[in-house]
Amino acid sequence: MPAVSAYLVRVLPDIKSLTREELEVQFKKWQEPGFRVTQLLDWLYARRASSWDAMSNLPKSLREKLRAGFSLQTLALVKQQGAPETTQKFLWRLADGALIESVLIPANPALYGEASDRHTLCISTQVGCAYGCKFCASGLEGWKRNLEVQEIIEQVLAVERWSESSSSSSSSSNSPETTTARTKTRMIDNVVVMGMGEPLANYEHLLKALKILNAPWGGGIGARKMTISTSGLAPQIRKLAVEPMQIRLAISLHGATDEVRNRIMPVNKKYPLLDLIAACEDYQKLKGRMITLEYILIAGINDSLAQTRPLAMLARRLYAKVNLIPYNAVEGLPWVRPADEVCERFLAALEKLEVIATLRREKGGDIDAACGQLRLKTERELAAKT
Ligand code: SAH
Ligand code: SF4
Repeated sequence: MPAVSAYLVRVLPDIKSLTREELEVQFKKWQEPGFRVTQLLDWLYARRASSWDAMSNLPKSLREKLRAGFSLQTLALVKQQGAPETTQKFLWRLADGALIESVLIPANPALYGEASDRHTLCISTQVGCAYGCKFCASGLEGWKRNLEVQEIIEQVLAVERWSESSSSSSSSSNSPETTTARTKTRMIDNVVVMGMGEPLANYEHLLKALKILNAPWGGGIGARKMTISTSGLAPQIRKLAVEPMQIRLAISLHGATDEVRNRIMPVNKKYPLLDLIAACEDYQKLKGRMITLEYILIAGINDSLAQTRPLAMLARRLYAKVNLIPYNAVEGLPWVRPADEVCERFLAALEKLEVIATLRREKGGDIDAACGQLRLKTERELAAKT
């Protein structure tokens, strides 16, 4: 049985990897009327259907054609940590058994002025990561594969499905029969591509997934509410700059000189700061959008005040803001976060140099919030049992 389903997964394209236009071509071939595509899209993206049989207003004959031609993959929840109102982490199993993570972050009342039912979702793009940054759990056991388009999209739908089914106040308005699909609002209105993997190394799948998540017939999430974080793949940053979607860009800088970056991020040997910053400048000019420079503070590695001046120079050159993030310790790695005073001093020095900077002060360590940690821990636990 597992061998059969693995075979099906491999040979059938997944329905959520297709755009509306591609579905229209398929439905025309099947001589199905155009409005059926609209109905199908409602089932997929508004009602988040997880089976063909749930699509009750599609004729049985059409459902059979869909079943024979496409897979309808959903993510299987392995573990969930955290409670509503806090950061919640999800560990998913993919069709081939691989594990990935997504992190749900509620809208911050301090930022938005009032409690909100809107959320940010941090999504993964690869199983593992090939880039091997020295401090990161995602790269520790190497790269396994790129995520498929539907696996990227499904993270949003699966979290919403989970939230709906686990919400105690779920009422009849949640049942497919009583809901007109487009009246459903998205719980997730912000997507940050900062989970496991290097997003720009899975460029084509990621961009297609974001297009579908953005489309009015798909996820309906604004492109300006999507952020891609990259460790610094200069050629792909240039490619992204000419995409029509106005996606935000965050650069994992973590060092303001080649000397520091080379020590912790092997990607810097391929694309040193000069190349990276030139690509960011192109992006900034073409898009006219503010770039974010992420800077994890790691004790004794990049937290010296000597880094603040070159960092301020880069930030000013790119009209970028700087996000300082105290390092989250990873089991088995020697790195530690600096004392709070050191982080505050670093922030104050940047502000004095007239850089727009923020320092993340909340603690995510208690739920293994750092990228790739929950998966690593679970895989190690599973390996210990076998
Ligand atoms: N590969 C991309 C996106 C995923 S990593 C990138 O590197 O940008 C998302 C962010 O989490 C990156 O800024 C990464 O450097 C950071 N990160 C990784 N491990 C961390 C840890 N242990 N503590 C804090 N941030 C971490
Ligand atoms: Fe990969 Fe990003 Fe982790 Fe570096 S920080 S190993 S690029 S996921």
